[in-house]
Amino acid sequence: PALHRQRHQFVIDFVKQHKPKKVVDLGCSECSLLKKLRFHREIELLVGLDVNGAKVKKHMYGLAPISTDYLQPTYDQLCIELYQGSVTQEDARLRGFDLVTAIELIEHLTLADVGLFSAVLFGYMTPVAVIVSTPNSEFNPLLPGLRGFRHSDHKFEWTRAEFRSWALKVCLDYGYEVAFTGVGQAPQGQQESVGFCSQIGVFHRIGGRNGCNMLLDDDADDVFSYTLLYSIKY
Ligand code: SAM
Repeated sequence: PALHRQRHQFVIDFVKQHKPKKVVDLGCSECSLLKKLRFHREIELLVGLDVNGAKVKKHMYGLAPISTDYLQPTYDQLCIELYQGSVTQEDARLRGFDLVTAIELIEHLTLADVGLFSAVLFGYMTPVAVIVSTPNSEFNPLLPGLRGFRHSDHKFEWTRAEFRSWALKVCLDYGYEVAFTGVGQAPQGQQESVGFCSQIGVFHRIGGRNGCNMLLDDDADDVFSYTLLYSIKY
């Protein structure tokens, strides 16, 4: 299967196993992961955020319920919200989630913005779990005809060591642990030396749901920097 499908399937498998109730997809783009996740009805709140509001608006109506969705009486209520905004900015509505996904997002940020994003995500949103995927540059020589980066908008593509070093730093700074994996296998015998085509870090907050001693219900100076584009209750 295509690589983007494999990345989304990785998230879906994680959702099936861990059953998060509140999920945010950062850099939700054409909302294709959200469209798959809405069928996993352990999820009660599904949120998408992208800096490109026009792109989200073009695709968000595909998230509207179809009439048969109401014929499933066993489903709990699902709420979907889409926002335009930057992952480098804090917004109180994205705090305290069970799972945050950032699939092929960080390589679109400058390194300075990766620093801001890390602080916003791990230090402010403080989700229980995070899945980050990004290209593994060590795999690039196996991609036919590729010169330079995989996409013209990429600001960098990291080796496994570079990704690991960012991830471990974030864990130290914000109290998370991380496991490394990926999707997109190299041909037989080359897996060890080049790794996966897309590298993935799966982060868990140390102490789980209670690992954050911040008072999430203290809303005295809540920040709202994102614009709500779409909101629907199933
Ligand atoms: N996650 C998508 C998926 O799995 O199908 C693909 C993501 S696409 C390659 C990268 C997205 O990140 C784009 O839609 C882009 O607009 C968004 N993006 C780039 N910088 C951003 C930022 N600072 N804040 C939020 N989204 C951003």
